[in-house]
Amino acid sequence: MWDFETDPEYQEKLDWADRFMREEVEPLEYVVAHPLDLSDPVRQALIPPLQDEVRAHGLWACHLGPELGGPGYGQVKLALLNEILGRSGSGSTVGPVVFGCQAPDTGNAEILAHYGTPAHKEKYLQPLLDGKIFSCFSMTEPQGGSDPKVFRTEAVLDGDEWVLNGEKWFSSNARWAEFLIVMAITDPENEPYQRMSMFIVPTDTPGVRILRDVGVAGWVEEGGGDHAYIRYEDVRIPKDNMLGDRGQAFVVAQTRLAGGRIHHAMRAVGQMKLAFEMLCERAVSRFTQDERLSSKQLVQEMVADAWIEIEQFRLLVLQTAWKIDRYGDYKRVRGDISAVKVAAPKVLQSVATKALQVHGSLGISDEMPFVAMLVNGIHVGLADGPTEVHKLTLARQILAGVEPTSETFPSRHIPALKEEAERKYAATLARL
Ligand SMILES: Cc1cc2nc3c(=O)[nH]c(=O)nc-3n(C[C@H](O)[C@H](O)[C@H](O)COP(=O)(O)OP(=O)(O)OC[C@H]3O[C@@H](n4cnc5c(N)ncnc54)[C@H](O)[C@@H]3O)c2cc1C
Repeated sequence: MWDFETDPEYQEKLDWADRFMREEVEPLEYVVAHPLDLSDPVRQALIPPLQDEVRAHGLWACHLGPELGGPGYGQVKLALLNEILGRSGSGSTVGPVVFGCQAPDTGNAEILAHYGTPAHKEKYLQPLLDGKIFSCFSMTEPQGGSDPKVFRTEAVLDGDEWVLNGEKWFSSNARWAEFLIVMAITDPENEPYQRMSMFIVPTDTPGVRILRDVGVAGWVEEGGGDHAYIRYEDVRIPKDNMLGDRGQAFVVAQTRLAGGRIHHAMRAVGQMKLAFEMLCERAVSRFTQDERLSSKQLVQEMVADAWIEIEQFRLLVLQTAWKIDRYGDYKRVRGDISAVKVAAPKVLQSVATKALQVHGSLGISDEMPFVAMLVNGIHVGLADGPTEVHKLTLARQILAGVEPTSETFPSRHIPALKEEAERKYAATLARL
């Protein structure tokens, strides 16, 4: 059965979330220096009371099932909520932080829930779910992120401890994180996807050295960027800080990556809708060369194109979310998630560019969000695997299901249809 409607009870929650975001959460971006800085008294005075309101409305940590303290609404409902939270998405996580569903903590919580010991869950998972601490996923290395064969960080067992050595970069939020989830080579003789294991590394462990906090152009980041270049130097962690089986880091990573990718896409819809609202507002307000922009056909074309792009993309996101709910198996929807991942930067950048253009010089200024949206589009096209790799995943999955034809019949459809039609209507044709 196909259904494109939201049930009225949940729609009420979404309406509340929309109002709450506009009236209470979005203004925080101008007064809270960084939503992850728990040492900032302004942040601590303003954000926790809003988080309590979200809890009271049953919208806290909507990515989680009831066993982990979330409402378990599923991915379609999460998509509808994330569209609203995504409005505050370019370089700011304030919306998701207030609603307890910010990346990369969402995915890291899923890893801990699946693979953590009871002690890990008590020490790391529960405070993470409660919004009391933050975390970091540390996988990409300076010499490459898309190709696991080039990874070098290693972990060697020494008695009851693992000793980690190596370098990682673009470890987002490391400077705010209580712990890092780190991928390291434990079994170098195995084939590439069986060489690495996953570890919990408390950030204050001796030997964890943040060399630089790298920023992203176009995003406002107070006191240095959020993407850490980390050196792990003889970092000793207890033996049982390994998550999942030895050599199975990629299996563990998939627990978070698939969900993370679609959640970014859901929030990107929010960004697109915000850019579109601003595009339309500007079109009906700005008066130039004797008429409003909205009367000019080239601007009308922008409005129509942007609307179509957003609606197409949104339906793909919602359909993919529906498939995840329906099948409960990320592997089965891997191609769909890759498609969404590839489409997101394209649509976001296309809509943001149109909105920027109709704002003229104001559009490119730092008083408007469009440049940050364009940068966010670049981010979405790189993080969690670059666009090219996801196109390959999708194309390979599609092509794997296609049977080769013979040289004499390059397409099985045409001759087969002709023969079938002639057979089917032979009696009638013979009579006439
Ligand atoms: C803002 C931001 C935040 C990030 N946060 C994190 C994080 O928290 N943790 C983490 O571990 N990583 C993080 N990353 C890193 C991200 O996952 C990597 O950038 C990504 O996996 C690509 O790796 P790379 O940058 O080393 O590029 P490379 O692997 O060197 O690839 C470079 C380029 O080569 C091309 N390419 C690669 N493979 C192929 C192919 N098969 N076919 C054709 N072309 C190809 C693509 O154009 C690609 O962009 C973040 C990145 C960004 C931008």
